[in-house]
Amino acid sequence: MAKAARSPTAEAPPAPPAAEKSRSAVGSGLRSLASAASGFLDRWTVVGTGISRLEKALGDQFPEGEHYFGLENFGNTCYCNSVLQALYYCIPFREQLLEYSANYKNPGEAEENLLTCLADLFTQISLSKKKTGVISPKRFVHRVRKENEAFRSHMHQDAHEFLNFLLNEIVDILEREFNTMKDSSETTSPDGEASNGEVNHLANGVRREPLVTWVHKDFQGILTNETKCLMCETVTAKDETFLDLSIDIEQNSSLTSCLKNFFSTETLNADDKFFCDKCCSLQEAQKRMKIKKAPQILVIHLKRFKFIEQLSRHKKLSYRVVYPMELKLSSASDDVDCEYSLFAVVVHLGSGPNQGHYVSQIKSSDHWLCFDDDNVEKIQESSLQTFYGSSREYSGNTDHGYILFYERIGKS
Ligand SMILES: [Zn+2]
Repeated sequence: MAKAARSPTAEAPPAPPAAEKSRSAVGSGLRSLASAASGFLDRWTVVGTGISRLEKALGDQFPEGEHYFGLENFGNTCYCNSVLQALYYCIPFREQLLEYSANYKNPGEAEENLLTCLADLFTQISLSKKKTGVISPKRFVHRVRKENEAFRSHMHQDAHEFLNFLLNEIVDILEREFNTMKDSSETTSPDGEASNGEVNHLANGVRREPLVTWVHKDFQGILTNETKCLMCETVTAKDETFLDLSIDIEQNSSLTSCLKNFFSTETLNADDKFFCDKCCSLQEAQKRMKIKKAPQILVIHLKRFKFIEQLSRHKKLSYRVVYPMELKLSSASDDVDCEYSLFAVVVHLGSGPNQGHYVSQIKSSDHWLCFDDDNVEKIQESSLQTFYGSSREYSGNTDHGYILFYERIGKS
């Protein structure tokens, strides 16, 4: 599997049609009255002190060397800003990206791509002399639009699709760079690495082991898809890699129960029988998924945007799904459950799939912050509960946790 896996369970729905973001109608609860009512300058600084409101709110708790920067919105780019913030506070990802940026040949020489634009943005934030402020991700957004037509319009976009695109694009760039480097080192020294026992590729045949990049080290897990023929009891197992898990959700449930369903045994029968190679015929079978290797960073996408065939359009599911701060996941390769801690939630604010707004709630050094485009505010951990969803279908609450980022704790 040379290519990084897309979410194995993600349906590939057509990109939802777009509509104007009606920001005034949504998410008003997140913006403090103070910042909404005050003028632009007053919003950032405590008058006369040069200290930002956020610095004042955090006081001594402001972590040494950390930066909290808002990101400017270029018209419906909140899908991008919310994901970038979650990735910035995903510490292993940030550190590896900054290291990559530092080691990258001559910056002047480097050809601009999505990865170099992202690395530049992260470097700009991390090297800033100011602790808080606003940064414009203009070059990065411009590059995203250049690379992918789907994000070119100024319409509402799906933050999960964007995250998926971004991580896979970074993997592709790292693989291309690795191959170019390898090819050039082989040209100069033909007896070098290639003769080093493990010949894993041929001039024409191309048999390369998939490269494990730092994106894989952070986000990639392996699922085993097991199918057991009920006639001959042969078990067929197939592994697939994932960078995130897309999970079906149910009303009044929890993430743990949704995950349980995801990993539950399904019977294939009637029109959905399985072709057993041993029986050489279609047979009833049992199918289930297991985690073979749990990822370091577990990204869970709650499938809130469901394609409704009768309506031939997407509908947002406002179901109440409680997600815990600490999550346990059983994995086949570990004797004990893997434990994870929640550190970021991308929240979708709005009633439908085609309009709304995204913000990120992020944990940094034991406190929670809300990143809403150019605005960053300290929030209480308890306010995360507001975004679980609603237990009734038609309720005023349209703001929901959409992408959850968990970091593995304990054994790595
Ligand atoms: Zn069989």
